[in-house]
Amino acid sequence: MSLSPLEILLSLAAAVLFILGIRGMTHPRTAVRGNLLGALGMLLAVVTALSIGDVMRWEWIAVGLAVGAVGGAVLALRVPMTAMPEMVAALNGFGGAASLLVAGAFVGDSSTPVATFAAAASGLIGAVTLSGSGVAFLKLREVRWADRLAPPGGVATTAVLLAVGLAAGGWLVAGGGEPAYWAIVAIGLLLGVALTAPIGGADMPVVISLLNSYSGVAAAATGFVLANTLLIVAGSLVGASGLILTRIMCVAMNRSLANVLFGRMASGGARADADEVYGGKVKATSSVEVAMLLEDARRVLVVPGYGLAVAQAQHVVRDLANLLESRGATVEFGIHPVAGRMPGHMNVLLAEADVPYAKLKEMDEVNAEIGEIDLALVIGANDVVNPEARTDPQSPIAGMPVIDVDKARTVVVVKRSLSPGFAGIPNPLFAADNCLMLFGDGKKALVELVAAVKEG
Ligand code: NDP
Repeated sequence: MSLSPLEILLSLAAAVLFILGIRGMTHPRTAVRGNLLGALGMLLAVVTALSIGDVMRWEWIAVGLAVGAVGGAVLALRVPMTAMPEMVAALNGFGGAASLLVAGAFVGDSSTPVATFAAAASGLIGAVTLSGSGVAFLKLREVRWADRLAPPGGVATTAVLLAVGLAAGGWLVAGGGEPAYWAIVAIGLLLGVALTAPIGGADMPVVISLLNSYSGVAAAATGFVLANTLLIVAGSLVGASGLILTRIMCVAMNRSLANVLFGRMASGGARADADEVYGGKVKATSSVEVAMLLEDARRVLVVPGYGLAVAQAQHVVRDLANLLESRGATVEFGIHPVAGRMPGHMNVLLAEADVPYAKLKEMDEVNAEIGEIDLALVIGANDVVNPEARTDPQSPIAGMPVIDVDKARTVVVVKRSLSPGFAGIPNPLFAADNCLMLFGDGKKALVELVAAVKEG
């Protein structure tokens, strides 16, 4: 299909806006602008796509837009920050579904070999994205039966499904038409479940990011089916950025992608018994005692985790940091790349409370100076400060880099109980000699701590 010069210009402008949008999102200061530029690019892309060629049924497009806009707005307003990964998983799944349905609608019409090949890719990858994201959604919701969806046979079953899926792709390319296409989709759906269901706990962030990449690749393939350059560009950008994020997260967890997909987490690993780890060794403390420790501490490191987000304690932790700094202490925040439930979760939370960006230190920087920290205040973090990752090669989180708070002079952990974090394992830090537990809801405990510091 040949485009008019105006359509080419608009397509180019949309593609440039996508790239500027992604660039903007590489830094918290420019992230909001980046998001707006990306959204503007998408608006331009939609308008341009609708203006090209024959749009047969405007009323259906209007219905689709209304349903999508209302559904999206309601979800975005309602979903709490802590449930954002589930939302991202669902959106990835919808992306995969949209790609496979659009490609499916064109099977038969698409006569060129490139379009047929692309339709096979879109059907398979879109279906893997759809069912894989569905399983990831259930796992993030901690629906336990999601683990049991894994088919017997492990990696061998996955390999067979992949081979059958590729064979069905060959059937479509050889002229199999719609039956071949829907066979690809059915096998892709099974493959998505087989790939995702065995992957456990702490590896879900990597899986979500990989599925995000798949949704982009499926969209790009559909772009080839429709001969729509903009969809190819947008899909490729999502595919590439998802893959880069996946790599960054694998590096942060010190895992290879193959190890995440087929490795130790699949079998659940060895689980230490909580009584064995904690029995008689945990020391509870009070806000008054912690306030006294803080009075003497020159260098304080705050390590936030998922519980800070649940408690919505970001504003009060900022107040505490300001209070301590006004009394001459240095307060820094140690940010683990997978703390919370989405990449950058802690950065977003602390930025919301106007904690200066310069105060946020990355894990490697913090670990290099951890011996000089007088008091590490861990708020609602668990897995990301679990020393077992360093010390126990059998642990489900073995090899994942953690913030080594156990090497600070004193550690205070604020959480409600000894319950495990996302990975479901006990944390020997809580039983360490230099560790005190301040039990309670993060916000309530910090409000009391601020009051105790002021009184002290
Ligand atoms: P964890 O999930 O390991 O631990 C969070 C802790 O917060 C819990 O042990 C809980 O203990 C405590 N908590 C919950 N509510 C409150 C509250 N109101 N007040 C105080 N504490 C509370 O969190 P981390 O941030 O340490 O680690 C993140 C984990 O999530 C990692 O395993 C990571 O792989 C995984 N993950 C990360 C994603 C990402 O992209 N960042 C996405 C998905 C998963 P208690 O109940 O006793 O209070």
